[in-house]
Amino acid sequence: MASEHPTVLLVEDEPAQREVLAYNLEADGFTVTKAENGEEALMLVEEAAPDIIVLDWMLPNVSGIEVCRQLKTRSETRGVPIIMLSARSEEVDRVRGLETGADDYVVKPYSVIELMARVRAQLRRTRPATVGERLEYEDIVLDAETHRVTRGDKALKLGPTEFRLLSTFMEKPGRVWSREQLLDRVWGRDIYVDTRTVDVHIGRLRKALCQHGGKDPLRTVRGAGYALG
Ligand code: CA
Repeated sequence: MASEHPTVLLVEDEPAQREVLAYNLEADGFTVTKAENGEEALMLVEEAAPDIIVLDWMLPNVSGIEVCRQLKTRSETRGVPIIMLSARSEEVDRVRGLETGADDYVVKPYSVIELMARVRAQLRRTRPATVGERLEYEDIVLDAETHRVTRGDKALKLGPTEFRLLSTFMEKPGRVWSREQLLDRVWGRDIYVDTRTVDVHIGRLRKALCQHGGKDPLRTVRGAGYALG
């Protein structure tokens, strides 16, 4: 029986990066299994193949590339999409990563939102029923695929950061997000951004959401952060 929550195997030896990513994937409705190294990853896949694998390139002992190569040569696991994470950005490395059979490749430091979008894109291909593409809140509709946002029947103009902020809010209406959590989700933890930047973009998002009128749907929660509704 197919579970309605897609399962992700997250292979990352850096504990902080692993935890941030696992937290965000779980908040997004994924069931996450974590592995710290390549051997553990291969063992876990043998036990139960996940819907998708997020795989760090640089791992102790068995590298991410080797894990990818092994999984892509076995018929039972060949169909599981693999997204490789790497600090390397050279084109030659990218080509090498894709040659091992990786389905996608994300360079560190990455924004968590971008990585999640790549995970969803892979699942849309392999498990389309598990990923929603359209988010709705009251009269606001966000289409994750076309990046269009409408309110009522009018299109809203939004900058890319405001779009990512809004999609975070619309995934969990009512949930209060701290500035730090929004930084992790929208900007990515590896990039240093002052928490005041969050306030600036929240201000822009509020203005954008009300550009054709209507009341401000965002709520400031004193000492805690922001919520939609
Ligand atoms: Ca690593």
